[in-house]
Amino acid sequence: MIADNIRAVEANIAAAAKKSGRKPEDILLLAVSKTKPVELIGEAVRAGLCSLGENKVQEIMEKYEPMAPYAPAGERIHWHLIGHLQTNKVKYIIDKVDMIHSVESLKLAEEIEKRAAQKGVVMDILIEVNMAEEESKFGVKPEDAENLLRQIAPMPHIRVRGLMTVAPFVENPEENREYFRRMRELLVDMNGKKIDNIRMDVLSMGMTGDYEVAIEEGATIVRVGTGIFGERQYPNRG
Ligand SMILES: *Cc1c(COP(=O)(O)O)cnc(C)c1O
Repeated sequence: MIADNIRAVEANIAAAAKKSGRKPEDILLLAVSKTKPVELIGEAVRAGLCSLGENKVQEIMEKYEPMAPYAPAGERIHWHLIGHLQTNKVKYIIDKVDMIHSVESLKLAEEIEKRAAQKGVVMDILIEVNMAEEESKFGVKPEDAENLLRQIAPMPHIRVRGLMTVAPFVENPEENREYFRRMRELLVDMNGKKIDNIRMDVLSMGMTGDYEVAIEEGATIVRVGTGIFGERQYPNRG
């Protein structure tokens, strides 16, 4: 069942890529496994998805060891932190995740730099941009992205790979097309500034409701949870 969902999502990704003259293999399908149990996530890994997205440090900690054996021979699980990251929790995941999608402050970047240096690693990060400037959302305003990039650029243990956004929740994904388009423009614009150390090639945008539109507008990572694992059940939320 999970494998069927994945094949359907992959077919949609391929169609959206084709429509916009892109190659499907240039788009990473990140399986968003938050709230889901290890056995179910294991089905997705066995069906070929080795990159998993979680929005809580705690959940990565809990799933990190139990998920490892599901990786196919010669592979490993690639964990991506996609949710808000508190500075005091960076130390728990610095040697566990491949990418942090949600960097939105200098303070957080400084902590990542410090912890990455201690572990002798270089951490791939994305700058989270609040494209629609929603009150409830994390991320820098588009016009503040350059300033943050310039501050992070000199940090030797951080590699800024690109930008990430969580678009508004909408019924019709076309409503988000403009935000995705502007994300790509922002990335091109920032690369054009020729800031030392900043050559970005990742656009993490698009979720279950709007990943096809995001791909048409240039997404290189789509973060799909519900479309793979089904609806999430949150305790105490009915
Ligand atoms: C939960 C989540 C997703 C996946 O959402 P779906 O609508 O279930 O695909 C993507 N990105 C972030 C940051 C999330 O927290």
